[in-house]
Amino acid sequence: MKNLAVFVDSKNGQISESSKRLLDLSSSWLVQNGLEGIYVYGFEEQSSDSFNSFSSIKQYIHITIPGLVNNNQVIAPLLEDIKQKEIGQFFYVKSLLVDSIAAFFAESLSIPLVSNVLKLAKVSDGYQLTKSIFSGKATLTTEINNNSFIAAFNKSFTFETTSQAGNSAISQAVIALGTDAQNKLIENYPLTGAIPLPDAAIVVGAGRGFKDPSNWGIVEDLAKELGAATACSKPVSDLNWRPHHEHVGQTGVKIAPKLYIACGISGAIQHLAGVNGSRKIVVINNDPEAPFFKHADYGIVGDVFDVLPRLLNKLKSH
Ligand SMILES: Cc1cc2nc3c(=O)[nH]c(=O)nc-3n(C[C@H](O)[C@H](O)[C@H](O)COP(=O)(O)OP(=O)(O)OC[C@H]3O[C@@H](n4cnc5c(N)ncnc54)[C@H](O)[C@@H]3O)c2cc1C
Repeated sequence: MKNLAVFVDSKNGQISESSKRLLDLSSSWLVQNGLEGIYVYGFEEQSSDSFNSFSSIKQYIHITIPGLVNNNQVIAPLLEDIKQKEIGQFFYVKSLLVDSIAAFFAESLSIPLVSNVLKLAKVSDGYQLTKSIFSGKATLTTEINNNSFIAAFNKSFTFETTSQAGNSAISQAVIALGTDAQNKLIENYPLTGAIPLPDAAIVVGAGRGFKDPSNWGIVEDLAKELGAATACSKPVSDLNWRPHHEHVGQTGVKIAPKLYIACGISGAIQHLAGVNGSRKIVVINNDPEAPFFKHADYGIVGDVFDVLPRLLNKLKSH
């Protein structure tokens, strides 16, 4: 097994920032481990120059999915393809769709799948993968004595890269997954919001402290001014104040932005579990005892309806 597969996320043909970082990691990994090439798999068409800045990519394979990915039959065309391409290692940044494919790969190929990987290294008799556990409160290092494995990376993964030469235009192919007669996809709900939450560099999160969905204008204005995505706590989406795909936390989206501004959110442990990969956290809360302050890099004790307009005015005047 001499090749590596990387599954990438994209929206409107733009490869996500975390997938780009993974391609950088993969290019370095390839060189360090004497692998031959990378096959990139994704779920959208890509222009021929999408991969110009990454080295060692042999081909881009666009996977089309007519229905649900819920059994081995459905992924059979993909399995056939990866066997032909002599792929032994599979990297992706955790996503629900690839998680479902990866589970069938692991079972069909009898190879280990390690989830929430933060970093990986080659050791004398295999590979060492460090993963995030207990919602990011601890890490666990596990060893694999097998050349073939699947690594599902946590968004806040780290790596040391060596600079690589880019690729010229690469070839492309299309694989259609099979369908399952017993289940069919009725409707797709595209995510709303200009900036996809999982990849945003800046996120403005708002909680029950905003009291009513009609008060979200200031959150959206601040996010727009900062070029940020908006997020919310679970009760806020449970109350249908905000869409469910904005809910971050243990049971929601996990984010790892450069800056997370949490407004009117208490900082419950389940919320922290989804945001503790953020590089800097700013908390705005009118209760000085709010637990979130213990996890903040900067804190403002104040009313969000007072602080946010002032912050917005300040940003606009610069
Ligand atoms: C199994 C399980 C899973 C869960 N998963 C998640 C999850 O994934 N994500 C998640 O978020 N939660 C999750 N929760 C819920 C979590 O425990 C908390 O209840 C939730 O995060 C609280 O949301 P909140 O901070 O918006 O609301 P609250 O706890 O009501 O806090 C509101 C905060 O706003 C502040 N505030 C009020 N008014 C103002 C104002 N005018 N200005 C400034 N601050 C103000 C208050 O001081 C308070 O700190 C989960 C719970 C369970 C049991």
